[in-house]
Amino acid sequence: MDIDERIKSLNECENCVDVQIKKFSPLKELINFEEYGGDYMRCQCGRRPLDVVMSHILKIMIENEIVGEKATLRRNSPVPLSDFYYSSFNPQFIQKNTLILLHEDFTPEVASILVKEVPEVKCVLKGSPRNVVGQLDKDSSINHFEILEGDDTQVNVMRTLLDEKVILVKNQSKHHIEVAMTTEEKLLRLHNYLNNNGVKKGVAIDGMCGLGALGIYLLKYGFEKVIFNDINPEMIEALKSNLEINGIEKGFEIHNSAFEDLEFEHVDLCVIDAFPGVDIDDITKKAEEIADNVVII
Ligand SMILES: [Zn+2]
Repeated sequence: MDIDERIKSLNECENCVDVQIKKFSPLKELINFEEYGGDYMRCQCGRRPLDVVMSHILKIMIENEIVGEKATLRRNSPVPLSDFYYSSFNPQFIQKNTLILLHEDFTPEVASILVKEVPEVKCVLKGSPRNVVGQLDKDSSINHFEILEGDDTQVNVMRTLLDEKVILVKNQSKHHIEVAMTTEEKLLRLHNYLNNNGVKKGVAIDGMCGLGALGIYLLKYGFEKVIFNDINPEMIEALKSNLEINGIEKGFEIHNSAFEDLEFEHVDLCVIDAFPGVDIDDITKKAEEIADNVVII
């Protein structure tokens, strides 16, 4: 994949015309359902305005009784996720085959209609954005969103204060929807901590590494060694491919365990990025015992 090409393709062309559709009024009162086909309002560059694409999707959901006759864009739209993010840039003009949709009432029938009739839709997931997806702790099982149609691969490209970008590839069905800090913000916070505290670039632990963003960053920052750990075996698989994608071949160790169960030697730095809502008192205590510096992201 050519990252620079993908970044460039997020921008509209000079002929793209934006359309804003009211978010709080019933969609049926706002648009003519008959007009809405796969090419309605498509620019010659191939993109359509986000509101037009979301209206097309909601129209199909209304027609198939997934949502009521009075459905509005604000209350009833599925969560639209892009298959490619650059920083926190959210494109207003959508290309074909790039949207990953999430809604708790999707059915297999409607998923296949959406993929067939709305060219922008790449993948349809069933689930609620409030669901815990992934593995919370060692006593819990691994939860996924259900893939009804398509390919849930999503690429995130993050800018950093180093000369390099960090690239994370994930399967969206295996991850909760981030509402708090973006990963790019987490990397900035980590960078500032390292610079302001003169942390030795020796050995670091990324204790709940997930896809590996923080540990990958530490290696790019110049740490001699990073010990990655995550309880979820699916994250370990994703971590391995993300190390490769970011061109990292050495200087790391990988563990698949609960952080509290691991035996570590004393290290220079321990970073912890826990699931939202997880009680991290014990984890923090352990981190402070084994590391000169502890960063809770
Ligand atoms: Zn255009």
